[in-house]
Amino acid sequence: MLKAGRNCEISLPLWHHPVSSTNVLVLGIRMHYFLVIIPLLAFNIDATTATLEFEGAPGWQVMLPTPGTHRASIVMEGTRRGIGCGKITGVCDENNARGGFLADRRGGTAIPPGKTYRLTVAYRTSAELSRHASVNVQSYTRDRKSQSLLGQKLTPSQEWTVFSNLVQVPEDAERIRITLYLYGKGTVWFDDVFFGETTDDAPNLLRNGGFEPPLCHVYDLAPERPSGNIKLFTDFENAALGKVKQIGPDEFYLYATPEKEPRSPFLWFHYGLAGGAGREITFHMNMAPFSAEQTSGNGNRIPVVSDDGDTWTGIDDKAWNEDGSCLTFKHRFTRSPAWVCSFFPFTPAHVTRFIAGREENPYFSAGTLGKTREERDLRYYTITDPSIPEADKRTFLFIALQHDLETTGALVLEGICRYLLSEDPGAAKLRQSFVTYVVPMMNPDGIAGGNLYCPVGNMNRQWGLGTVPEVELVERFARDLATRDRKIEIFMDFHGWCTPTRSTIFMTFGKELTDEGAEKDSLRLSNTVRKRVKGKLNDTVWRQMDSYVTSSMTDLHRMASGWMRFEAGARLAFTIEIFGDGNCSQDDYYDWGRAFAEAILEFYGS
Ligand SMILES: [Zn+2]
Repeated sequence: MLKAGRNCEISLPLWHHPVSSTNVLVLGIRMHYFLVIIPLLAFNIDATTATLEFEGAPGWQVMLPTPGTHRASIVMEGTRRGIGCGKITGVCDENNARGGFLADRRGGTAIPPGKTYRLTVAYRTSAELSRHASVNVQSYTRDRKSQSLLGQKLTPSQEWTVFSNLVQVPEDAERIRITLYLYGKGTVWFDDVFFGETTDDAPNLLRNGGFEPPLCHVYDLAPERPSGNIKLFTDFENAALGKVKQIGPDEFYLYATPEKEPRSPFLWFHYGLAGGAGREITFHMNMAPFSAEQTSGNGNRIPVVSDDGDTWTGIDDKAWNEDGSCLTFKHRFTRSPAWVCSFFPFTPAHVTRFIAGREENPYFSAGTLGKTREERDLRYYTITDPSIPEADKRTFLFIALQHDLETTGALVLEGICRYLLSEDPGAAKLRQSFVTYVVPMMNPDGIAGGNLYCPVGNMNRQWGLGTVPEVELVERFARDLATRDRKIEIFMDFHGWCTPTRSTIFMTFGKELTDEGAEKDSLRLSNTVRKRVKGKLNDTVWRQMDSYVTSSMTDLHRMASGWMRFEAGARLAFTIEIFGDGNCSQDDYYDWGRAFAEAILEFYGS
């Protein structure tokens, strides 16, 4: 199961997408259903849908606690009633291998406590099951005490069979979880799951007990109409896209997620489009296994479009369909090629162009720290006034994109660089007093592969361990600085997180771990930044070396900021989570970076 949000350095709130749309477009989609769904379902359902299978299921969470052993989907063949049924297939029975569906109902209104309910589950199984299928109901109190209300192994049956039982929900239950599991090898199908009061016409309290397929199946059924005029391409670094089907002259149905290649555990699509200049093109993007409620992506500005691969703007003519399985968006393209992405991307090609655009700037130079695991360059910038001797300047080291998807951190860091390289008198002062080293992209391999998140495991838990080449290169750079008596004055590791508001978090080390002066200065710096930037800025001060980060205990030495502070002697060190605000433009992030750099100047007293 995917957590709500990415694995940033803090625990994330469950994040709901506001559905932004125009009435016309919503109406258009409803009309589309009306026109398309009825004839297709009437005539094509038997012939066309037999092979259709949808990863995940609206109204259910897919539980795969033993990855690779089980698969859970909705299928449209052999159902008991309706169009779809739930299917779990297992290919392994070692180590308690299992997979299932979970309906999680919270709060007193979804399922009022202190009552007796009826649970009904229809199921059938393959002839062979190495272990068993089961149905479980658990309740949780407000303080997370759980109680099993029902736990039942299901008798194997190749015919649809109905299991029914009464369930007493205790007075103090504030959450009910119904799980349907398959343990071991075999297949089980579920349909018509009901949880409701015991009266005859009581409504089903489950959102999709019938395992109906997501509404985007309308487009799965739509006939392909290739025109050849418009070409979608993904032959570039950072691209990611699943199946593509053209269903009209200027209309495409797309899967966000590539099927049979390494893919991000978080929503990421990015593709190019040739031949679209002067045309308004409509895309219906099937988000499986993600959805409107669970994009697990960065920010809620989805999607964005660009004519040059560097400058990105949001597409506002968009709407989610009713069950949040499909995002329809429209855009009139002015140039060819153009690019479409789920969120502001930050690509290796962008870094190359950033460097090329500043070759004439006397305060800028670029180099490489060495090669990544896949032999890409790990690039860095040096920004300073070279006419001032190094010995008269102090050192900053800023890094971004240890976590591929957290591009808002990279945008802010680029904003800092743009300011430092500008004609502004404040920027000149900073260049005279400091040498700023920047590693704009810590994980070029993962980013090139389509924001795969950390193919080598979480980079920001492996500092000092010698397990990640990219980390080792930056460690060596920091140690070299120290041996030249160029110890780092401020280290900052920029991340991003998907808060819908402009809320940034500065994480740093308390006096228990550093010293009174370092804590005071760290907080004074974040206070100075707070005054200058738009939106909220909070501090998290770590007071123990083993601290909760992303809701699990982490040895802070193994994070970049901890390693830099305690093993490379950086005076101040921060991990920073930049917000992912849907109303924030690319330029807004650059401006935020500029305000940040101005705050650093103020912090040093000029
Ligand atoms: Zn992160």
